Amino acid sequence: MKKKPLTTTTTAANQTKPPKPPAKPTTPANHDHSGHEHGEGCSHAKKIAGPNGGRVITSVEPHAEFFVTPDNKVRITFLNEQNQPIPVAEQTVGIVCGDRSNPTTLTFTKAADNNFLLSNETLPAGNNHPTIVSFKTTPAAPTVRAKFILNLTDCPTCDHKEYACTCSHSH
Ligand SMILES: [Zn+2]
Ligand SMILES: [Zn+2]
Repeated sequence: MKKKPLTTTTTAANQTKPPKPPAKPTTPANHDHSGHEHGEGCSHAKKIAGPNGGRVITSVEPHAEFFVTPDNKVRITFLNEQNQPIPVAEQTVGIVCGDRSNPTTLTFTKAADNNFLLSNETLPAGNNHPTIVSFKTTPAAPTVRAKFILNLTDCPTCDHKEYACTCSHSH
């Protein structure tokens, strides 16, 4: 049996990221671009937010906007190549969010006007939950999955929450 070396000092791995300053209320005066050059640090041409300010999922066709509503539900809107909303066709969506040992499953209902899918359940409390969005374009189509960490913190350098952030900084 091997003996572990006794190290009680904090390793660098525990402090890779400095903590972010607390989010300020969004007023034009507080909009801070000081740490960051637009056109250099921001790759707006590549990363774009959806028409509602949500995250655009491009691994599925047509693309889908993942947006967290003020009441903590998820709204999925499908988008055309111009990033404009299109009606829901035969697509179905399911989301698994949160701790792997105790995940929250979200099921979706199509809006009466077919314009979006809205989750029947709310997201789990807390932040930075691993999230898996599963799409089926038609009932017979293979499932397409998008995985990301759902960070609901306001981005300090753009007008979106981090899950929909259009900046090129790492998260
Ligand atoms: Zn960001
Ligand atoms: Zn940003």
